[in-house]
Amino acid sequence: MSCELKLKDRTGVINPIFTCQPAGAQYASIGIKDCIGIVHGGQGCVMFVRLLFSQHFKESFEIASSSLHEDAAVFGALNRVEQGVDVLLMRYPHVKVIPIITTCSTEVIGDDIDGAILKLNNGLLKQKYAGREVYLIPVHTPSFVGSMVSGYDIAVKDFVSYFAQSEGKVKGKINLITGWVNPGDVTELKSLLAEMHVEATVLFEIETFDSPLMPDGNHVSHGETTIEDLRSTANAIGTIALNRYEGGKAATYLEEEFDVSAIIGPTPIGIRNTDTFLQNVKKMTGKAIPESLVHKRGVAVDALTDLVHMFLTGKKVAIFGNPDLIIGLAEFCLDLEMQPVLLLLDDDNTNYAKDPRVKALQEGVDFNMEIVTNADLWELENRIKNEGLELDLILGHSKGRFISIDYNVPMVRVGFPIYDRAGHYRYPVMGYAGAMWLAEQMANAIFTDMEYKHHKEWVLGVW
Ligand code: SF4
Repeated sequence: MSCELKLKDRTGVINPIFTCQPAGAQYASIGIKDCIGIVHGGQGCVMFVRLLFSQHFKESFEIASSSLHEDAAVFGALNRVEQGVDVLLMRYPHVKVIPIITTCSTEVIGDDIDGAILKLNNGLLKQKYAGREVYLIPVHTPSFVGSMVSGYDIAVKDFVSYFAQSEGKVKGKINLITGWVNPGDVTELKSLLAEMHVEATVLFEIETFDSPLMPDGNHVSHGETTIEDLRSTANAIGTIALNRYEGGKAATYLEEEFDVSAIIGPTPIGIRNTDTFLQNVKKMTGKAIPESLVHKRGVAVDALTDLVHMFLTGKKVAIFGNPDLIIGLAEFCLDLEMQPVLLLLDDDNTNYAKDPRVKALQEGVDFNMEIVTNADLWELENRIKNEGLELDLILGHSKGRFISIDYNVPMVRVGFPIYDRAGHYRYPVMGYAGAMWLAEQMANAIFTDMEYKHHKEWVLGVW
């Protein structure tokens, strides 16, 4: 029995799991109020990312493009950044925060966006927009390294380090860096903290991306994290970053620069990790875990107990998606006595081998497990198609749907993007509510599969 961690042994990528770094920076930027990012690159670097976000959330929101054309590859395109900032400020009087997000092409050209921002700050903003509160923030996200996950991590750190400002005294809030989550997760996390009477600055807060359609017309979604929230991060009791690779950098920065203690992880997926999260909140704030949460936990544990030994034990699962999510899901599957036999982590981060959670998986499993880094979806398909991998379930986002369809393996949609199931963004995978929802989704997928294949219906245990 072993758990092997290995790098994909092909150079090319067939059916990628992730998209590129600027997408992550865009995801972070939509979490800020009065913010519209300018992606400095071709229109596709925004259009396709916006499409993914819209398909996932089914909401309207705004991101701008400097819209490079061929001439930019020769002459550079900083003039388009300057024009873009001017147009944004003219058209959107409420906009205060404009991250300038680079892409592969503008990083290769060598466009000096930091210099352009200096020029804009000393020129356009002083002359045409004097007295207006505007912050131009460079975010370097070349897409020939990393992935949307590292792009999110970089942008979160860039926003925090730009705004964080010490007032010399600690205020009574904690920073909660959620990572790349859904509105449903934010709602669940806020509810857990509210029950503990803990005040938190939720950073890059996208709960409002499940927004109402009101009688007065269409609603444009925007994040809820304010400039003041970002400033005050330096004066928090501490920071809890739920995901190591999606916000961990910012938590470390606040600790090193402002002495704001940081707890990074675990991703609160499943009972065990949610317990640890609440214990961490208690340790940081001194607030007790109330009986109401013990009750909420009990309801979730009861729901899981109803499913584990009858239906979930021994089920073989493949999981792909964002690394923190995958690791959290794998830990949860193990707690449910399932066998996460294949984990696909898809970017070129070389630190996964040092991740204590990965080490724990490697040391603890009593079946054969593979963890593939820099992976793509062909790693999954090839194993099913050519290497005899038998699976009971796949956990991952909608890009894996054709493998599920072609090879008749049931799949529970989890992660980003999800566009072939309704309303998933509304449901948490984090917290006790998330544990219950996930386990029930997995069981229901297995039940539906039994109906569809007329196979093993006896496991339902009824007659
Ligand atoms: S890979 Fe490069 S060109 Fe393609 S979307 Fe990402 S940044 Fe734009």
